Amino acid sequence: MYDVIIVGAGPGGLTAGIYAGRAGMSALILERVFPGGQIARAHIVENYPGFPDGIEGVELGIRFKEHAERHGAVIESVEVTGYSLEGEVKKVFTSGQTYEARAVILAMGAAYKTLGLYSEKKFLGTGVSYCATCDGPFFRGKDVAVIGGGDTAIEDALYLANFVNRVYVVHRRDELRAQMALQKAAKQNERIEFVWDSEVESITGDAVVEGVRLRNRKTQEMRLINVSGVFVAIGTVPYTDDVKSQIKTDASGYIITDEGMRTNLPGVFAAGDIVAKPLRQVVTAAADGATAIYSAQAFLREKE
Ligand code: NAP
Repeated sequence: MYDVIIVGAGPGGLTAGIYAGRAGMSALILERVFPGGQIARAHIVENYPGFPDGIEGVELGIRFKEHAERHGAVIESVEVTGYSLEGEVKKVFTSGQTYEARAVILAMGAAYKTLGLYSEKKFLGTGVSYCATCDGPFFRGKDVAVIGGGDTAIEDALYLANFVNRVYVVHRRDELRAQMALQKAAKQNERIEFVWDSEVESITGDAVVEGVRLRNRKTQEMRLINVSGVFVAIGTVPYTDDVKSQIKTDASGYIITDEGMRTNLPGVFAAGDIVAKPLRQVVTAAADGATAIYSAQAFLREKE
């Protein structure tokens, strides 16, 4: 019986591991693939405090892991298959074993939605990105495309327009989903050009991205835009399918927490990208992990 089981070894889960150890709690971290979370996909992380020259995402993940282990967290590489979270003893199931703890932190993260194209996979890391904040600065002075019409896509376009030459926002309809203030700012920005009613047929290039081939959904006309980068911003999908029946989520499936990262169930907390919140970054995930342990510790103390 552990004091706390943390599911997911991204920045949220691993920071929870560090704080658990320092709080004198026994902690087990379960992760399917290591390094866990979106951080493994970030080529260079340039906005995590303390690394002014940037740090490779994988390297930062390894450092988080070593830091958590240094403070006594046990990390196991297993795939969680189910949960029983309502009782006093929380149970986490894998195909071979059942783990038990007095508290659980859900930090399984979220996956970026993909377009599902072969060429999208092929150019991942060589021009295709799901994170403008992480990878945008590599495209300084170049032309890029942002795919999507929601808040993320328009915020990405505005961010990129600060330093790229031109941003094409490719949207499948002729009306944006993004909030009005963002729409207004983007439409007034001379570096941003909208390509309406268009779907990406393929991303073209040899070793790196050279363009996007688009199909107009109304006229079926094809168009090739020359760009060096393609930022796919069509939403994310949280890994909450296995907990949704027990834990309250918002309409998009993200876990609803209070400011102490408490979920609707006593003794169950959430941290990182799986949480309903406005900014999903390494630094906010880490902060969630610290807060979740602070609340878990108070919860266990009350029980005693
Ligand atoms: P989103 O609101 O779900 O928007 C996704 C966009 O991608 C939509 O425009 C959608 O088109 C398009 N799309 C979806 N699947 C597609 C596909 N297969 N091919 C092409 N286009 C596709 O996602 P999001 O922008 O990431 O935002 C997620 C949540 O976070 C939202 O609740 C948002 O308000 C919030 N958020 C808030 C802020 C902020 O307040 N500052 C910033 C970022 C995100 P359709 O419009 O045609 O469906």
